[in-house]
Amino acid sequence: MRMRYITLTVALAAMHVATVSPAVASPAAGALVNARIHTLDEQRPTADALAWDAAGRIIAVGSKDEVLARNAGAVVHDAHGATVVPGLIDAHAHLMGLGYALMRADLVGARSKAEVIARLQAFAAALPADAWLLGRGWDQNDWPEKTFPTAADLDTAFPTRPVWLERVDGHAGWANSAAMRQAGRDLSGNWQPDGGLVVRADNQPTGVFVDAATDLIDDVVPPPGDALRTEALRRALAAAASVGLTGVHDMGTSAADLDLYKRFADEGWLTLRVVAYADGDAAALDALCKSGPYLHLSERVRMAGAKFYADGALGSRGAALKQPYSDDPGNHGLLVTPPERLLDSLRKARRCGVQVATHAIGDRGNQLVLDDYATVLGDAARSDHRWRVEHAQIVSVADIPTFERLHVIASMQPTHATSDMPWAEARVGRERLAGAYAWRRFLQANVRLALGSDFPVESADPRLGLYAAVTRQDLEGEPPGGWLPDQKLTPEEALRGFTTDAAWAGFTEREVGRLAPGLRADFVLLDADPLTAPARQLPGTKVLATWVDGVRVYDATPQAAAAKPATPF
Ligand SMILES: [Zn+2]
Repeated sequence: MRMRYITLTVALAAMHVATVSPAVASPAAGALVNARIHTLDEQRPTADALAWDAAGRIIAVGSKDEVLARNAGAVVHDAHGATVVPGLIDAHAHLMGLGYALMRADLVGARSKAEVIARLQAFAAALPADAWLLGRGWDQNDWPEKTFPTAADLDTAFPTRPVWLERVDGHAGWANSAAMRQAGRDLSGNWQPDGGLVVRADNQPTGVFVDAATDLIDDVVPPPGDALRTEALRRALAAAASVGLTGVHDMGTSAADLDLYKRFADEGWLTLRVVAYADGDAAALDALCKSGPYLHLSERVRMAGAKFYADGALGSRGAALKQPYSDDPGNHGLLVTPPERLLDSLRKARRCGVQVATHAIGDRGNQLVLDDYATVLGDAARSDHRWRVEHAQIVSVADIPTFERLHVIASMQPTHATSDMPWAEARVGRERLAGAYAWRRFLQANVRLALGSDFPVESADPRLGLYAAVTRQDLEGEPPGGWLPDQKLTPEEALRGFTTDAAWAGFTEREVGRLAPGLRADFVLLDADPLTAPARQLPGTKVLATWVDGVRVYDATPQAAAAKPATPF
């Protein structure tokens, strides 16, 4: 593969690394000692020390003495007995989506309108001056008056900044007057939109919009500008580092988002290794076809694949099924991309040498994608193409061996199973559950499993993914024994899905996913061993530190806390 490099701002980037960014310290040769390391490397599965060079490449893994002998002069870091695993990789997520979600004020559980406004004011302090203030999670049933709020409640605190707040159930919104002034039409009168309600008093809108009426405000929220996008990415990166993520497969990256990732990488701020998949058949894929796969000089950003959609989602009955929904006779779900257009896009990707990842949730969606892959790949199906199916949630048991036959990766999200388990059987019935979130059946068929979260749809926290994978239970431990428990993964299999096999799915297995000489020093320090601790302890396992390329990008060790100046009274 020919890789393009962006070298333009390298000198500048080096300067930034040393002087500007607090997140990315100057790289130096280093060693980590007194650790309990699971390397996931078959040559040497466990070790208590590792060392890396100033470029962030591992040069030795072994005992403390072995490692220090290979790397005299390295800065030595004491892990104080912490467990160390390879940096965690989320194989299916939406990085900007996480950033935007973090840019919305969280109003869940606010006990009064005064508390809502206090939370909004604290949140607004970090926003660009003219940005819309978006929030979610209010519920008037939690307040003393238990009645819908009004625009006036917000106007004193926010006379000019538009404010738009989604109710906890997503079925209503609360706007201030500045937001309503920007609506595309006069909101007064006695008209109502189809399927919605503009709440009014004396023919004047009060500020609350129900169901389809929320579009009147949603449609005028401006697309995020440069300052907001920058802040969203900054927050997403910080959130990812704090939960031990060192890599993400960004599913559906626009050309503009790729440019933003490049800029962060140029300036030394990108604390996550991003394997970007172009957003369907659009500008980013065209650039790949024109110029070949993209790799940033820092190797923190690459794009060599594209993401497409076959069908919808199960919760909204959009997943395409072979037989109708069990709870909606006559409904077979939706193919969201016309089949001939999907096939054209796959052919284009193949022509351009681009790796393909296609969203398929229902059994019909999955069968369609497998048929298309067989058609497009032809004899090359047994080559090292690594085409992927994203989600592979409800698959006919008979179709699972086809994944292996075509060398297709199943990219699955353990927390989707535990989120969907309360209602999945109602949607598809007992029989089709045999191929539902069937991680073990895929492994038994020798299919490679790459694991992720689909954040911000689910939490970005891979500890929750590991927990869901090994228990198939919610955080309360329900149902006892786990849902469809024969499909549970072992702790080792789950960890491989979030490291080695995720790396493989992104063509980065020679860089990351294991801790071995020659690979990147991307690793996570944990206060408990995810391979031996009881599964119920996984969600509460503490991420002590996250390292990328031998540089600490997140530090919550007791030593770091002790080094911080005391809070002034
Ligand atoms: Zn997704």
